[in-house]
Amino acid sequence: MTDLKKCNQCKEYTLEELCPKCNEQPKDAHYKFVKIKDAIPSTKEHFDKKRQKKSNN
Ligand SMILES: [Zn+2]
Repeated sequence: MTDLKKCNQCKEYTLEELCPKCNEQPKDAHYKFVKIKDAIPSTKEHFDKKRQKKSNN
């Protein structure tokens, strides 16, 4: 079972220990995995892509 969490700061869902947006510690989300499409994809590959975009700008 995956541990879906929700950040109270930016209201984003995440699977990470820390919110990828604001680095706050997210609370456990009481949502089922149906909601995962609303979550930020938190794979390493995704972050690498994001970083590349940012550094290009
Ligand atoms: Zn956040």
